[in-house]
Order: sequence, then C-alpha cells, then structure tokens
Amino acid sequence: MTHPCGQPPHPPRATWQHGGVTAATHSSLFPQVPESADAVLEGLDPEQRQVATALHGPVCVLAGAGTGKTRAITHRIAYGVRAGILQPASVLAVTFTNRAAGEMRGRLRQLGAAGVQARTFHSAALRQLQYFWPKAVGGELPRLLERKIQLVAEAAARCRIRLDRNELRDVTGEIEWAKVTQTVPADYPAAVAKSLRDAPRDPAEISQVYGMYEQLKRDRSVIDFEDVLLLTVGILQDRHDIAEHVRRQYQHFVVDEYQDVSPLQQRLLDLWLGDRENLCVVGDASQTIYSFTGATPDHLLNFRTRHPGATVVKLVRDYRSTPQVVHLANGLLGQARGRAAEHRLELISQRDPGPEPAHVEYADEPAEAEGTARRIRELIAAGVPAGEIAVLYRINAQSEVYEQALADAGVPYQLRGAERFFERQEVREAGIALRGAARAGGNDALLDDVEDLPAQVRAVLSTKGWTTEPPAGSGAVRDRWESLAALVRLAEDFVRARPQATLADLVAELDERAAAQHAPTVQGVTLASLHSAKGLEWDAVFLVGLTEGMMPITYAKTDEQVEEERRLLYVGVTRARLHLSLSWALSRAPGGRASRRPTRFLNGIRPGSAAAGPRAAGGGGGVERGAGRRKRRGPVLCRVCGKSLTDAGEMKLMRCEDCPSDMDEALYERLREWRSVQAKELGQPAYCVFTDKTLMAIAEAVPGDETELAGISGVGGRKLDRFGADVLAICAGEEPDEGDEDD
Ligand code: ATP
Ligand code: MG
Repeated sequence: MTHPCGQPPHPPRATWQHGGVTAATHSSLFPQVPESADAVLEGLDPEQRQVATALHGPVCVLAGAGTGKTRAITHRIAYGVRAGILQPASVLAVTFTNRAAGEMRGRLRQLGAAGVQARTFHSAALRQLQYFWPKAVGGELPRLLERKIQLVAEAAARCRIRLDRNELRDVTGEIEWAKVTQTVPADYPAAVAKSLRDAPRDPAEISQVYGMYEQLKRDRSVIDFEDVLLLTVGILQDRHDIAEHVRRQYQHFVVDEYQDVSPLQQRLLDLWLGDRENLCVVGDASQTIYSFTGATPDHLLNFRTRHPGATVVKLVRDYRSTPQVVHLANGLLGQARGRAAEHRLELISQRDPGPEPAHVEYADEPAEAEGTARRIRELIAAGVPAGEIAVLYRINAQSEVYEQALADAGVPYQLRGAERFFERQEVREAGIALRGAARAGGNDALLDDVEDLPAQVRAVLSTKGWTTEPPAGSGAVRDRWESLAALVRLAEDFVRARPQATLADLVAELDERAAAQHAPTVQGVTLASLHSAKGLEWDAVFLVGLTEGMMPITYAKTDEQVEEERRLLYVGVTRARLHLSLSWALSRAPGGRASRRPTRFLNGIRPGSAAAGPRAAGGGGGVERGAGRRKRRGPVLCRVCGKSLTDAGEMKLMRCEDCPSDMDEALYERLREWRSVQAKELGQPAYCVFTDKTLMAIAEAVPGDETELAGISGVGGRKLDRFGADVLAICAGEEPDEGDEDD
C-alpha cells in the first residue's frame, strides 16, 4: 500500500500550501530512511505507537517532558504518509517556533515523509492570507508592519499622551496581549483588571492609544503581526467558500506544545477544522509558561470535553533524562499547586543512572559565574561537546556575567533569543554616555563633586533610565533597568578590584569586555533564558541564579504567577539529559552581605533544606536521601581554622583550600586508581564517580563506617549504596571486592 516514494504521486502545485520541499528525492538523500511504514513504528514504545497509529478522529497526548511527544507526532505523520493513509499535502503540523518547524520538517524527511507542512500558526496563517487576500478583499495583501512601535508612538502623540521610549515598548506589548486575547480597545481596561496584569500606564490611556493605533493602521493600509491571525480568522469566518477551500486542502492537523496555545490560535485552529475532528494535540500542562501572553492550558485539559470521542494517550516514560534528573523534576512538580498541577504526570526515566544533580551555593554572583565556567570546562575536557551544554537563566540581563566568565575561560558560547549584552541598545547608549562623561573629565556638570566612581556611573546612567529601585512590573522598562543595573554593579565590582580606577579606566574595561564578547563564535555553549529553552535538550544544563527574587521573579505576585515560575524551573530542569546543576549566590558582589536565599522551589529538594510540601515518590534519585544524611544547619566551618566556608569546593573539603591538609596521600592515590577503573566501567568521566575534592575529603577523614562516610560532602545516598563498600574497604587497607556487580 505504500508508494515507492513514500507517498502517492500528486501534481506539482505552486500554491500557498506548499513549502517547496519535494518528496521524490528523499531516499537518495537519506539512505537510512526506514524501509516501510511499519519500520517507522519501530522506534516507538507501545503508547507512542498508539499515538502514531490513531490516524483518525481526535487524539490528545498528555505527557510530561522528554516522554517523546514531539517524536510521537513526527512518527505519526511519517507512518500515516508512508502507509498511504495520509496525503502529505493534506497534513498541517503546527509547532511553537520556526526553528521547531524546521526541525520537524528535517525529521519528517529522514523518515521518508517530506512534503508535509510544518509551520507555526503565524506562518501558516500568513501564507493563507497572502493567497486568499486578492479573492477575499481584492488587491494585494497590505504591507506587514516590521516594527509596530513607531506607529504606536504616533498614535500616542495623536492622543496627546506622552510616552518615553520604554513606556512605548511596554504599551506596545500590552496592545499585542490585547490582540491575542481578542480584546478590543474599549474592553482593554476591564480585561487588564481581570487578568491581574501590571499595566505600565493608566489602562484607559492604553485603551485610547490602542484604538488610535488601529485607526492609523487602517488609514495607512498596513497590518501587524497579530493581524495576520486576526484577519485569517476573519476571512475564514466570513467566507465559507474560502474556508471550504482550506478545509479541502488540509484534512489532518497536529499541534505540538498545545498547552501554550492562545485563544486566537485556538480560534484559527477551530476554523481550519470546521466540523471535522482529525486533530492530534500534544502538550504538558506542567510546562505552561506563556500564560502572560494570554496562552492557557485549558484547551489541552478540556480536550476530551470538547471532543468526547477523543483517544487520550498518556506517556510516562522519560527518554531524555537520567533517573537522577527525573527524580528532581518529579519532586519539583510534587509541590506544584493549581489546575495544571492537578494534571501532573509522574515521569519514569528510561535511562541508565547518571550523576546526581549538583546543588551549588556560591558566595557571590561572579563566583557563581566563574564556578559555572570552570565546571563547563571540566565537562568539555571530559568529552562533552560545548554544543551539548547550556546555561539557562530567568531574565536576559543575567547573561552578561556568564558571557564574561565563559569568554575569560576561553569557552565559546552562543546566545539564544537575545542580543549579546554589549549589543543591547541600552548598553550601547550607556557606553556612549559614559565615554562622553569620561572624555569631559572633571568638566561634566553632572559629575560635579561626585568623586566616587560607582556614584559617577550611577549619575550618568540615571540619565538613561537607571533608578535606585527597580521599576514596577515586567517588560521592556524592567529589562532595560536590569541591563543598566548590571553596568552599575560592574562599576562597583571594578572599583573594588581597582580602588584607584577612574571613569576612563572603566570605559576602557567595558570596551575590552565588549571586544572579547564580540569575538565570533562557532558552535558553543548555549546561553538562553528559560523561556527560550522550551522543547530543547542538552547533555548538561546549568540552571543559574536560583535565588528568591529571580526564581520566582519579584514581579510574580499572585499564586498563579508564582506557579508559572515553578513550571518555568521545571521546564529548565527537564532540559537536561545527563548533567544538571542548580546554583545560586548568597550575595551579589564579593564581600557583600549574604542576604539572598535560594529559591523556595528547591525546599525539600536541595541538600540541607527543609521540605516544603509532599515529596514525590519513585524515580531513582538519591538526592533527598543524600540530603537527609548530610543535613546541615548554619554555615559550614573550616575544620582547621574555623572560618565559615562559602566556596562549594571548600565546603566539600570541609576546610579552606589554603589550610594545611592532613590527608593520607597514599590512600588518596589508591582511591584515585580505584575511581579510574570505576569510571571506565561506567563509561563516565571520573568525577561522576567522585570528584577530587570528595576523594581528598575521604582521604582526610578516613571513615571507618557507613555513617562516617555518609557525613562526607559529595557522598550521596546512591553513591553510598553503589560505592560505599569499595571505599570503606580501601580506607581499611583492603582490596575492594573485584567480583561485586552492584546495581
Ligand atoms: P518536551 O516536553 O520537552 O517537548 P517531548 O515529550 O516532546 O519533550 P521529545 O523531544 O520528543 O520529548 O523526546 C525526548 C528525547 O527522547 C528525544 O531525544 C527523543 O529522541 C528521545 N525519545 C523519545 N521517545 C523515544 C523512544 N521510544 N526511544 C528512544 N528515544 C526516544
Ligand atoms: Mg516536545
């Protein structure tokens, strides 16, 4: 029943529904294409197969992170096409980003099912709009506004409302939100109150600007990004002939990341479907992270109510992450509350055990960045490709210190979804202002009587929007403030390191940093915000800056907003295949007051923390067990000089690096030899067995029994079970039992 090319022949058509991919050449380009439709199913587990073979009627896949949702729907399409059940051109797969769409097309080609449309809602709608506009409205589709901000500025001016540049960006954001939630200008004030958003200006004013903006667009005959969806919806609603045309073309719909679908996207999907039900949606309510843009998991969770005959499949096997990572992820969700949390799915890892997730506390932010860069170098030295490592943070302004630390460590990196710090407009403007002030020397009126360098920097940057207190709310004003605040901190740190430094020295330093970070990079470590990491995966993931205020972010005030932050952290954790590190810094700058606290979301999960809620059962992790045995109160003190320790490595050693060691050198050597044998057997880098610091601590403490061994930092519950007997034997001067095949 399968056509030799994997699909039945159809005449070439140069129309809106084709992406220009030809199916006929796949077998020569991709020699490893599965031989048959059935062979496509071979890479799937029974539940995934159920998804792939349920080709008719509504299908809803509710499944956690890494369970193969994206894989299942890709194979589903490929199976249907290869089995001759689905016509490639009749399938529309909708993904969250253009990049995800591109990846899906690539995977489909590899499975012998090219020619299927995989697009975002936006790009699919734009294509339809371009094609049908002449018929529906006449003439060419109006020009698409590249940047709506200028028109918003003009609209504000016409309404005699003065907005500065940042307010302008935030008001623009509000207009976008109103449009995807299908809120007309007159309804905006009520809608904003209902949604508990922090409006950047008086909602009545925003409503006025929004109305004028719409008017100006009509006058100039231009459309914006959101109009693409709104107009497509409008045409499909009003013109039954056109709706029929589209429905004849597309018979099958597949939607990935369905938990984050906006009301407007859902409306479009309903119109595409008409009264048919050939719709397959996949999603994970626990990964809803775009509620702030109007998205809601309700469509996913109510799917069966809307489609009573739906096949609902749950996937629970996590193929992405180790039991250790999965255990932590389950623990996080175990404490979640709210509607999405009621539908949480406990993940079960299918992978071999890996290293315990690291919980690392640093004294200050630069130490956190340096420590992270150091660990990344170790991973790369141990064979993990740089492209398989990611550092994920809450807001883009956090990237600078990591860009710098990685540049210092000679590690290539790439930023996802954000401009590099020194390329951001506000940072460039701040640089120009600082350079101007430095050039003016003492002749700048602004800096009269201001001697101290950080104070000078604050004075200059206050002309660019810096204030002592952060602005209320999120959005562009906040982002800009964060960038400027990062520059102020940089100046404070700089003068601490070089007390005699002048403004000119600081400007030179900024130039040097900018030059280092502008160096072209190839494949490197990914620096990305948690939001932009959605759907992706890496071997090693570093979640950094996990302090209260950043995670959850200060402006998350309502319970729902805090829950969305928790889900965001869950998304971050579940990006890791093997290595996961969670870190935070107790103070911002070196020598600063240790006033910060690690995120509440890690309570009960982080070693030494009290549980905050019910613990998840199952999983393979020894995190909590290890944490329980190592429970500590108060600071860790150096056992030689008594100073309190903040460096993670020193905490592991339980003494300052410089304090004299009473280590048994010969024992240390024997432990290292044993470790390299273990590492080889496990196929993992040596430090995954025990780090040097832990081995040193063992060789210093020479534990005589399990309890003493368990008291050493770095010896978690799993390691104790796995290696405890060997280590104690070596400490007792015996040979470890060679024939012991544990685990
Ligand atoms: P997310 O919720 O993060 O989007 P997902 O459910 O879409 O995750 P995928 O990205 O499809 O998960 O799969 C996660 C990883 O597991 C991928 O590397 C995928 O290739 C692998 N995987 C999924 N299913 C299987 C399977 N049956 N056998 C082997 N590997 C699998
Ligand atoms: Mg996915």
